[in-house]
Amino acid sequence: MAQWFAAKAENPDALLFFRMGDFYELFFADAEAASAALDIALSHRGEHNGTPIPMCGVPHHAAEIYLARLIRRGFRVAIVEQMEDPKARSGKAPIKREVVRIITPGTITEDALLEAGRPNLLLALAWDAGGRDGGGRDGGGLGAAWVDVSTGLFETSALPPSALPALLGRLEPAEILAPQNLDLTEWDDRRSPEPVPSPPPQARRRVAEAYGTVNLDAFGSFTDGEAVAAAMALDYIRSTQSGALPRLGRPEPQGQAGTLTMDAATRGSLEIHRSRDGGTQHTLLSSVQRTLTAGGARLLGTWLSAPLTDIDAIRARQDAWSWCLANPDATARLRGELRSAPDVARALGRLSLNRGTPRDLAAIRDGLAAAGRAAEILAPPLPAALAAARNALPAAPDLLELLAEALADPAPARLDDGQVIRTGFDGELDAHRTLRDQSRQVIASLQLDFAQRFGVASLKIKHHAQLGYVIEAPAVAVETLRGFPELTLRQGMANGARFTEGSLSELDQKIREAAEKATAREKLVFNHLVERIAERADALAACASALAFLDVAQSAARLAEGGAWVRPVLSETEAYSIRAGRHPVVEAAVSGQNVFVPNHCDLSPDRRLMLLTGPNMAGKSTFLRQNALFVVLAQAGLPLPADSAELGIVDRLFSRVGAADDLARGRSTFMVEMTETAAILHQAGPRSLVVVDEIGRGTSTLDGLAIAWAVLEALHSAIRCRTIFATHFHELAELADRLPRLRPHTMRVKEWKGSVVFLHEVAEGAAGRSWGVHVAELAGVPAPVVKRAASLMAAMEKQNGALGASASLHALPLFAASAPQAEPDPPAGSSPADDALRDMNPDAMTPRQALDALYHLKSLSAPCADDPA
Ligand code: ADP
Repeated sequence: MAQWFAAKAENPDALLFFRMGDFYELFFADAEAASAALDIALSHRGEHNGTPIPMCGVPHHAAEIYLARLIRRGFRVAIVEQMEDPKARSGKAPIKREVVRIITPGTITEDALLEAGRPNLLLALAWDAGGRDGGGRDGGGLGAAWVDVSTGLFETSALPPSALPALLGRLEPAEILAPQNLDLTEWDDRRSPEPVPSPPPQARRRVAEAYGTVNLDAFGSFTDGEAVAAAMALDYIRSTQSGALPRLGRPEPQGQAGTLTMDAATRGSLEIHRSRDGGTQHTLLSSVQRTLTAGGARLLGTWLSAPLTDIDAIRARQDAWSWCLANPDATARLRGELRSAPDVARALGRLSLNRGTPRDLAAIRDGLAAAGRAAEILAPPLPAALAAARNALPAAPDLLELLAEALADPAPARLDDGQVIRTGFDGELDAHRTLRDQSRQVIASLQLDFAQRFGVASLKIKHHAQLGYVIEAPAVAVETLRGFPELTLRQGMANGARFTEGSLSELDQKIREAAEKATAREKLVFNHLVERIAERADALAACASALAFLDVAQSAARLAEGGAWVRPVLSETEAYSIRAGRHPVVEAAVSGQNVFVPNHCDLSPDRRLMLLTGPNMAGKSTFLRQNALFVVLAQAGLPLPADSAELGIVDRLFSRVGAADDLARGRSTFMVEMTETAAILHQAGPRSLVVVDEIGRGTSTLDGLAIAWAVLEALHSAIRCRTIFATHFHELAELADRLPRLRPHTMRVKEWKGSVVFLHEVAEGAAGRSWGVHVAELAGVPAPVVKRAASLMAAMEKQNGALGASASLHALPLFAASAPQAEPDPPAGSSPADDALRDMNPDAMTPRQALDALYHLKSLSAPCADDPA
């Protein structure tokens, strides 16, 4: 227990997996937490201060499954191993134990703990000591560094604090390291920098040292914040791996430029990696993913979370999958190779931490073999990106040869299983194995000898865990055998006895020694292979990246096969024109008799603001989202589901579609809506694309209309970005007369046998009428209420004529005021203007009085500023 308390004091925030023989055991509060989280029995072992110690345990060979569950639930686990062989131990002192590793969500490497198709990132954040104007590159206020320990990816970025939510949305880190004074709730980009944990020059040196260089500048230009964050990440990883560092690629500073900016709200509304319910189905990623390898799936996910703005880089990706499309035979063979290619990147990560298994060696071998064959399939001429991938594929032919000769196929799961190294590869190993196996054969033949020599036909030679090889004889023969002095009775049994014999024991000893030597030698050879791999780690990592790139290219080509998805034409203009576009996720979900209705969208400069009206359920949000998704797909370098597409590069994408349910954070829907609107108005520029749904829905009608109107004007005339603006304020369509680049559109709806049919078709023009009452009926609102609403609607339309803005607004309070069961109110009571009109006698007026009366009427009909509506 003293050992346990010491380890716990060092790792107070981790559960201790305390190795006791074949089990990892947990004690005290750890046991209580783990037994609840793992749903395993809680028992007791020993006493502490007079009370029993709560305890639970898991078998060590099945530990990964339990670890996976604990990590997913947000625990950290410290592994405490036995550092001595219990057999070799002298005296009564307890076996030495040490914390060998701390398992945290951001530093895991085992396949059982990782999601194959997703990067697993550890993110470190630090204040920039230099602040915004710090030396070298603009510090921007924060430094960020993120590492995927499982694949060796290492990138950094400098950013203003306000950009952090977008970065978090993009990276979805598994674990975040932040200094304690980094207040995540109170952002202010202008605040002065806080002290940093380790001074920047020291941080730079520490990072450089990890790569065996003296100067970090060799890898690029890092701000102080980036350097400190990178050093934090490295220190933390080391601390969790008991001092060892895995193989990591060189840290690569990522400029803020170069990727499409999407804030967290935009990502949420577009459901790129996760749907609103947190699942991975029905997402953009799932709808475009045709990858065949885990590395390809991860790369495709990265493309979608960080679409590019550099047109050449995007075209390079397009060229790669276009080549696949144009070379179907080669691509089919390529797919065959990819299907057989294991996850080289993660196998390499584990091997570099000395945590690799024979299967990881096999993964490198099979990956290299597949890569070599893939390289031969890719015959020039190739587009640049494919040519680069092809060059990286034959990474280490000599290593492949070595592994193919050395490693058994299939390789066993664990080194302890033996038979990892092929016969014929290592003479010494073979000699030990031969000795071991020959002795076994000798033993097998001894049984007949003994039976004859001792005159007991029924005796057997068996292997016993403690006694080694023994002679087993049935009860009737025991007396006979006891008469032979060379036999020693070792154990009586219910139906017989076990004897040992001199030559047998000698052979047993020989076998044991040979087996031990074979095991030790096999480990040595294994470690030698691991070292040979480590020497080529960079080339292997590049080969793994090249395979992933090929996989994403063939995946994109798969979409475009058959012509339903096309290559968008990109330009440095402000064009946006989609012919017959379809929502990739909704299209897949629409089934049966329904077919997805494709829609055009043209936001060319002279018509860059599309105002979209139409009833609920008509397909507005689907249309909005699909066009935002096209930007993501196009700039990720992927094809789009459309007949044709032309797109000028977008620098920032804003999407506000679907009710933001932020009640848990204590902000009203309207407050959220306005905060998000403010973000758009502050950040959008002429090269941005904005899709917004129902701005102003969260407040009263008049407020809402006024705000929607003002936002629309700002987007049209001040920001001048491409915009699709969906609204239920049909009145706004009238703005087309005053805003030359605004084009009203509406979702077409047909009335059929008294009910409403949504055609899901976007057409130019304004909505003729509102269909809310029909939708209420469709949704199952009780008939009397629907009827009442319909009659109120009719009354208001009759009274007010056309749905002019102020007229319909005046009528609206009726809805709220009337109870469903009450008789219809008389159409709205007379207004002050009505009263004044009634009191007037035109025949008795002078022209001057008539003019005054007209002004008076006009003033009465203007909406009051403090109108409670
Ligand atoms: P709104 O935003 O106008 O309320 P939605 O975009 O949520 O409407 O669409 C309502 C439903 O109509 C969707 O669930 C989808 O099944 C269907 N839908 C939307 N657009 C189309 C389309 N273009 N073709 C076929 N069905 C569609």
